[in-house]
Amino acid sequence: MSFIPEELSSPITDYVKYLFCQVQFIQNSCNYPARNNLDVREACAKHSANLTLVIGENTIMRVFVLNKNLQPLDPCRPARARILLSTGKAKVYRRYPFTIILVEEISNPVTHEHQLKIDPGAKTTGLAVVQRQRVVWGAELTHRGFQIRDNLTSRRQLRRSRRNRKTRYRKPRFLNRTRAKGWLAPSLVSRIENILTWVKKIIRFCPITGISQELVQFDTQKLQNPELSGIEYQQGTLHGYEIREYLLEKWNRKCTYCGAKDTRLEVEHIKPKSKGGSNRISNLTLACHSCNQAKYNQDIELFLAKKPDLSKRILSQAKRPLSDAASVNITRWKLYHDLKSITLPVEVGSGGLTKFNRCRQNLPKTHWLDAANVGKVETLIIEVNNPLLITAKGHGTRQLCRTNKYGFPIRYCSRIKFHKGFQTGDIIRAVVPKGKKIGTYVGRVATRKSGSFNISTKSGLVQGISHKYCQFIHRKDGYAYTN
Ligand SMILES: [Zn+2]
Repeated sequence: MSFIPEELSSPITDYVKYLFCQVQFIQNSCNYPARNNLDVREACAKHSANLTLVIGENTIMRVFVLNKNLQPLDPCRPARARILLSTGKAKVYRRYPFTIILVEEISNPVTHEHQLKIDPGAKTTGLAVVQRQRVVWGAELTHRGFQIRDNLTSRRQLRRSRRNRKTRYRKPRFLNRTRAKGWLAPSLVSRIENILTWVKKIIRFCPITGISQELVQFDTQKLQNPELSGIEYQQGTLHGYEIREYLLEKWNRKCTYCGAKDTRLEVEHIKPKSKGGSNRISNLTLACHSCNQAKYNQDIELFLAKKPDLSKRILSQAKRPLSDAASVNITRWKLYHDLKSITLPVEVGSGGLTKFNRCRQNLPKTHWLDAANVGKVETLIIEVNNPLLITAKGHGTRQLCRTNKYGFPIRYCSRIKFHKGFQTGDIIRAVVPKGKKIGTYVGRVATRKSGSFNISTKSGLVQGISHKYCQFIHRKDGYAYTN
């Protein structure tokens, strides 16, 4: 089905290929939500036949709809929203997430059950709204946890050096600080707050009746019965996925024998099955393909004859069960308790279950599709093409001056946030009619007192755009958006 030979690869041919793939896509009505060329190509190669879902109008993300009294109604298709807007029956309420509000109130509206599903991650959290089996809305929320950590580290170091620079000696004081019970590091709190903000926001715009959250990596309950048949731990059943997740955690996601990382790992019997080794989890480990082949049905002592220390270490680690704490992520539990306080029913699932659901349906690994697969899932109809990409940007800084790398103040920092009616973080559209910068730019703005703004658009930063050309799209809310 390939139109262009693979060896011709320049940006232009890539783009042509991409277009061809898109055409193929529509012809084959592929169910793969593609995010970039690579995705499309990969998906086309894999799924040139027997595809189930339809791409086109149906796969564009739904629009949230509010009744006149701000009650959330069922999300509608963009085409319907366009008609409502053009006939004056609705108005735009909000750009991100796109929400419209009806001009006339509907009395006793009928709404359906919508489940909000969350897959919390350290860097990115996936969000999906699922109505029965239809995924009608998806988003990926990128956190700024690492940025917060780095900022606090830098502040701590600057203050420490400043404090010590010209002071008399003081005896160190320590153990004189307490932390509240349940204290979490600010970077972790930020992640939880980001998710809660979005959950509350979506509940305001969509008739959500329940929340699903991925709580643990693997379900220890499901590991209780370790007797499996041959195929189960290779692929297939849910049980196998829980075991895989467990082993990945236990053996640090690398080959036990050679330490290879980022490679395909296979489940390995430490004592070979042919020599009476059991399928118990204490006899299983992970090995890369070549190690697995090399070991074949040898005993571990023989295979690692030259590395007796390693062999001893593996055997002792194999016997030790993974503590419950290993599968538990504190932030996820905190999030779980916070979600429960929202008074919607909260369903929880494990990472193994999510992966099982996703792989069974042959869906690509993205955060928002992972989210859609959290909890009990039969089959999903993906009606979203591009998820909304949300990035947490914070609400600015409270620094009174900028410092150099030694902590000396070097620059004044204005306390005035608004310049010419705009503030940093607003999303604007700038239409420049003349000059070098002629064109239309949409994006997050960084304001200056002079009125010459910078706009970070999809294709990069555009500098020096006058405030005269700028128009609001979305007021600053601490997040940046692309879709
Ligand atoms: Zn290996």
